[in-house]
This record gives sequence, structure tokens and C-alpha cells, in this order.
Amino acid sequence: MQCPKCKGVMEEATYGRNMTIDRCVECRGIWFDTGEAEKLKGKWMSDFLDSGDVKTGKVNNKITDINCPRCSVEMTHVKDMEQPHIGYEICEEHGMYFDAGEFTDYKYETIVEKILKLIPRNQT
Ligand SMILES: [Zn+2]
Ligand SMILES: [Zn+2]
Repeated sequence: MQCPKCKGVMEEATYGRNMTIDRCVECRGIWFDTGEAEKLKGKWMSDFLDSGDVKTGKVNNKITDINCPRCSVEMTHVKDMEQPHIGYEICEEHGMYFDAGEFTDYKYETIVEKILKLIPRNQT
């Protein structure tokens, strides 16, 4: 898969028993498939989210017109209400993209809750 922001290669990384995410080898941006994001739980999240370069993440955070790496449809840019410097992109069908280091100051339980709310379920 190709990184929607910097066009670098995204490689799969496995966490826990059956959790796989895609992470860009260039900018360390992270892609979650919708199904994978629902499995997000616990502390492991902080381990890999901290691995990105915050500076790169901030630069890439300004790139908001990206297309879903799965279906090439333009993704929706979402800003966090309480921390507007944090933004992420969502494809309602396939998943979401996070810039490197965006969550360094974040409470992980909070972001997991937010992510779960953003994922549309039981679409009619
Ligand atoms: Zn990238
Ligand atoms: Zn998509």
C-alpha cells in the first residue's frame, strides 16, 4: 500500500495477537482498517504512536486533501474539538489515517473512544 500523504511505502506491523496496522516507512503515518481500529485497546497503542517524528507529523497534518489508499476516494479531514492541532483523515468505508506523533500528548483511552465513535457501524 502507498502512503496517501508522502507516497512512501506502507508496511504492515503486527501488534498483540491479531492486530495489524499499516505504517509508512517514510513519514511514519499510520493507517487503520476499519475492522482493525475496532480492536484498539490498551497500552500498546502508545508504544507505536510515539515512534513517529512529531515534526514530520505536524508538516503532514497540514496535508488534508488526501485520497483513501484503498479506494482512492477523497478522505474526510476531522479535527479534534478539544485539541484542534490534531487532525486525522477518514474513509468511512475503509479506515483512517493518522500522522506520526500526533498523539504524543493525548490520553490514549480518550482517543480510542473518539475513534470508535467515528467509525460508522450498521450502516443502512
Ligand atoms: Zn508517508
Ligand atoms: Zn476507502
